[in-house]
Amino acid sequence: MSTELWYTERYEEHGAALSLRVREVLHREQSAYQTIEIFETEHFGTLMTLDGLVMVTDRDNFLYHEMMTHPALLAHPAPVRVLVIGGGDCGTLREVLRHPQVARVDQVELDERVTRVAERFFPELCERNSDPRARLHFQDGIAWVQEISPESYDAIIVDSTDPVGPAAGLFSREFYSACWRALGPQGILVAQSESPLLHAPLICQCQDRMATAGFETVDTLYFPQFSYPSGWWSATLGRKGISRDSFRPAAAHALEGLRYYHAGIQQAAMVPPAFLLRG
Ligand code: SAM
Repeated sequence: MSTELWYTERYEEHGAALSLRVREVLHREQSAYQTIEIFETEHFGTLMTLDGLVMVTDRDNFLYHEMMTHPALLAHPAPVRVLVIGGGDCGTLREVLRHPQVARVDQVELDERVTRVAERFFPELCERNSDPRARLHFQDGIAWVQEISPESYDAIIVDSTDPVGPAAGLFSREFYSACWRALGPQGILVAQSESPLLHAPLICQCQDRMATAGFETVDTLYFPQFSYPSGWWSATLGRKGISRDSFRPAAAHALEGLRYYHAGIQQAAMVPPAFLLRG
């Protein structure tokens, strides 16, 4: 009889699954919002799941966190005020704080327990949480954006869970309109938009909703992400008052310690596959 322990996330509607061999279950709790579990895997380091879905592994989170952050901040001429919605593992926050121009980051995560558990099990992702520019808030990001004064931010990063439960509203046109209002005359919105292979209609919906919310140009970024469904992921980026080719290559070259993003990726990541070419 096998005594091996495997974590498996099933993608029932696609008849597929991801499995990681696990050494040990390190933590399990039910927060007010979701079940938070931490595993020590054999080859992917520490793994965090929420309600049984992979959020972060030590080994591949750099792909997602770098791509959620750097293309957006480097497309903005002067990203000083940044809002991160969700992002409780703090990996995106760490990437944002690599940018010397950023003077303040509000991170608005619904579930404080995700951040507290990440502080314990993913200390490297949380290493910049005490940076004086970072402010952690624990509440619903939709309400935050609706209530904030107009033109409060230069960039908004939506690092959310899948579009179900409390995250569903983070994919709505009303939410993107509220983000447009919360951005200054020059602003960038970037939102995780799921798998190109499995969720192409959702990506098109994000693009259309951002455009109708007022963003003049919208592009999707494509990048690999082993531990998310299909191993291929996306983020959709809307620009307000910023030209499509706006990019600060010198600032990109000055970023240190990155493992996926570099200046050459800025345009390359925005080239869609043929089945997502539109217009
Ligand atoms: N990148 C990951 C993925 O795609 O699987 C998501 C990582 S991050 C841990 C997602 C976070 O979004 C979760 O911690 C969740 O609590 C938070 N979240 C979901 N809905 C939210 C909302 N309405 N406002 C703020 N945070 C929210």
